[in-house]
Amino acid sequence: MGEPVRLMIPGPVDAAEEVLQSMAHRVIPHYGQQWMEIYQEAIDGLQRVFGTRNDIIMMAGPGTAGLEAALGSLMRTGEKVLMPSNGFFGERLATVAQSYGLEPVRLTAPLGQPLDPDMIRQRLSEVQGIQALTVVHLETSTGVLNPLQEISAVADEFGVPVIVDAVSSLGGVPLPVDEWNIDVCVTVINKCLACPPGLAPMSVSQRAWDQIDGKPGRAHGWYLNLRTWKDYSINWGSWHPYPTTLPTNNILGLLTSLRQILEDGLEAHYRRHSEAAGRIRTALEAWGFTMFPNEAYTSPLITAMYGAPGIDIDDLRRYLMQECGIMIAGGLEELSGKILRVGHMGKAASRDYVDRFLDGVEAYLRLQGRPVPPWTGLV
Ligand SMILES: *Cc1c(COP(=O)(O)O)cnc(C)c1O
Repeated sequence: MGEPVRLMIPGPVDAAEEVLQSMAHRVIPHYGQQWMEIYQEAIDGLQRVFGTRNDIIMMAGPGTAGLEAALGSLMRTGEKVLMPSNGFFGERLATVAQSYGLEPVRLTAPLGQPLDPDMIRQRLSEVQGIQALTVVHLETSTGVLNPLQEISAVADEFGVPVIVDAVSSLGGVPLPVDEWNIDVCVTVINKCLACPPGLAPMSVSQRAWDQIDGKPGRAHGWYLNLRTWKDYSINWGSWHPYPTTLPTNNILGLLTSLRQILEDGLEAHYRRHSEAAGRIRTALEAWGFTMFPNEAYTSPLITAMYGAPGIDIDDLRRYLMQECGIMIAGGLEELSGKILRVGHMGKAASRDYVDRFLDGVEAYLRLQGRPVPPWTGLV
């Protein structure tokens, strides 16, 4: 196998050794008193990270499962949902909505630019019958952190519930769900919560439950129907408050990670990411790389950048993988071959990973005959 590969992609992330070890546990059934104590501690920890008193659902699956559940549960076939988009994941969400027979009302911003709250206000006042607004908080394909608080305030002016794709942002930057009035907030455990993949935790507000219950007609599906989850939390609440088997080993890993995050403090957890991003950007900008997103809307979780002049970014990416065992990401779709993306989540935020990455890029630039200043003198 040789050297282990270090993941510096924008998810999935390398998890800490303690998290991995806590998952290597005999299988515990997903019900009963012993399990409920573990489960409840994980739910309480998630409520603190989400900044919410709303219900938390821990759905097994990828983030997309949680997003499908939100759209399919709050909306009926033929209904309109406002879906502003500024990248791959915004487009993906609209595809999911269409697959449920919903009618996405589209609004796009250029790649690398944020969604504009004023344009969202304008659409909400122009188009009648919009039943929900979706926002991708961190557009992982470009590194743009959308102004979610402002956008959510606009939705409030119209009484429209907000569904947030916080898959790559929750746990990495502040996202106080109750303070910002987010109705459904979906994340995964394999990005800023620093665990292997397997669960999509989401919060659901009372207003969302009211909308789910208040609509005539049939909601979509059963497992991905949030109503099913609510019913089990009420009727089977004391020993099995969810409809199906849960991946209990994943939840043991999540609990280990949550304990660590909350013990260090959320602010310290956020700072780990921003320090890693800051060191990498300082060196790379000094070496001639240009950042891709609008600087005012960049997040500390992903560095998306063009190459330096004369540098073949795909060759750099290959070099880092083959010579340094470091995996970073390229651009998606029309940004393929144009940008690089480096994740700062999970172990990628550690000094060890960041130093090795900077060593690798510096060595590559030297090989290309560019006498760049050493990063150790820059950051
Ligand atoms: C990673 C990601 C997704 C997709 O998550 P899956 O777990 O693969 O379904 C969706 N949205 C954003 C913003 C992401 O970063």
